[in-house]
Amino acid sequence: NASSIEEPIKPTFHVDHTQLLIDGKFVDSASGKTFPTLDPRNGQVIAHVSEGQHEDVDRAVAAARKAFDHGPWPKMTAYERQRILLRAADLLEKHNNELATLETWDNGKPYEQAAEIEVPMLTRLIRYYAGWADKIHGLTVPADGPHQVHTLHEPIGVAGQIIPWNFPLLMFGWKVGPALACGNTIVLKTSEQTPLSALYAAKLFHEAGLPPGVLNIVSGFGPIAGAALASHMDVDKIAFTGSTATGKIILELAAKSNLKAATLELGGKSPFIVCEDADVDQAVELAHFALFFNQGQCCCAGSRTFVHESVYDEFVEKAKARALKRVVGDPFKSGVEQGPQIDSKQFEKILKYINSGVENGATLEAGGEKIGNKGFYIQPTVFSNVQDEMLIAKDEIFGPVQTILKFKEIDEVIRRANNSRFGLAAGIFTKSIDTANTLTRALRVGSVWVNCYDVFDATIPFGGYKMSGQGREKGEYSLKNYLQVKAVVTPL
Ligand code: NAD
Repeated sequence: NASSIEEPIKPTFHVDHTQLLIDGKFVDSASGKTFPTLDPRNGQVIAHVSEGQHEDVDRAVAAARKAFDHGPWPKMTAYERQRILLRAADLLEKHNNELATLETWDNGKPYEQAAEIEVPMLTRLIRYYAGWADKIHGLTVPADGPHQVHTLHEPIGVAGQIIPWNFPLLMFGWKVGPALACGNTIVLKTSEQTPLSALYAAKLFHEAGLPPGVLNIVSGFGPIAGAALASHMDVDKIAFTGSTATGKIILELAAKSNLKAATLELGGKSPFIVCEDADVDQAVELAHFALFFNQGQCCCAGSRTFVHESVYDEFVEKAKARALKRVVGDPFKSGVEQGPQIDSKQFEKILKYINSGVENGATLEAGGEKIGNKGFYIQPTVFSNVQDEMLIAKDEIFGPVQTILKFKEIDEVIRRANNSRFGLAAGIFTKSIDTANTLTRALRVGSVWVNCYDVFDATIPFGGYKMSGQGREKGEYSLKNYLQVKAVVTPL
């Protein structure tokens, strides 16, 4: 575990795309305002990015409306749309390393993770939804009476999309893939912490032949550009990924404006349950991955590690040893498992949670400190003897802090795992199919991983129960978010 971090490696890459993307062109914000996007390794400015204001959102929505009402996109054949999306996927693949560089620079995630997992997953996702473009169709309905009835599945119109900073490119793909396949036009607002990679990716979609106005990107701040988009009277749908607190605001803005449809992918505090029959070494490794992946900044992080009392002590010892071995360092360096946290605000928040864990009487087994004096690095931290009512067991910390809780009975762990306002995901580690089935049915969460964790694919739906969200993204389920159903009735 590094106690200091070396000088950051300088990417040999020039950041060219920092303006807003409206109607197929990169343009300044009307006010000329910019904001700095920072390198989490040292807090220094990577680039100044155009800051979208209310009037810029208006311009972007007008472009998207024009492209929807008069442009070729919703009207072209599904096969033509599919071919453009497939060309875009080819370009994303070709520019894998540039995209991964921007992602790591802006976000701080390990470059190998961005280059080998995330950008390829984005490419896969766009190909998957390209495949759907010509497979979206309605039904014939056997109505009672002398009528022929069928349904048309039509695009919803202008989709507003707001994404977070933890997986900027994947969140971009989860949103634009299905919306474009269904023939919608888009205004997407990136997170103010990570505006760069989506601008680059959107440029590639235009190179692939996407007509102007179909995909507009507005960088900017949540309460300004985000709120303008969510409350816009000419936006037909809002898809949001971010915190539960902001999700509530989005839903309120959508309701108070034009009652636009809303999909929400929100926070979590997911249980990872290690049963008495589990292989402890495998469970330790998987629980470590479930929590620490992406610096602990995953909505579905397995952030409550419940361990059966019979293997608890052994598990804690091994979890501690694994955390102490975790390689923290410059995310551009090969072999690094953990980079810095996204920014000073998150960094301070995580350190406060660590303090609260110590003050509330949990046992600090490993880590607990910041690393070095530059950037936002935090030691991989493990707490044992965590009780359900402690803040570290209830709140979404969104950092590299594993909390290990002890349980005795399956009924007890079901009750405790479900005793959360969140319901995003769960991990179950057991050799017994009966135990796995019992837990799977009882847990009120949108994803269950049995003897695995964080397995994602374009085909697998994702979303939350309870305050973790509304609706599902990915897979066939996501198409519903971007389609209207028209019933057509004709006398026989
Ligand atoms: P956040 O809610 O602070 O911000 C998310 C986005 O919303 C950003 O683009 C931000 O600018 C915008 N925003 C903020 N305030 C707004 C407002 N008043 N009106 C409109 N837009 C506004 O979340 P974050 O810190 O960027 O991301 C972390 C959160 O996202 C965590 O809670 C995490 O669990 C969640 N998340 C969920 C999923 C999922 O699929 N369920 C995936 C990734 C992240």
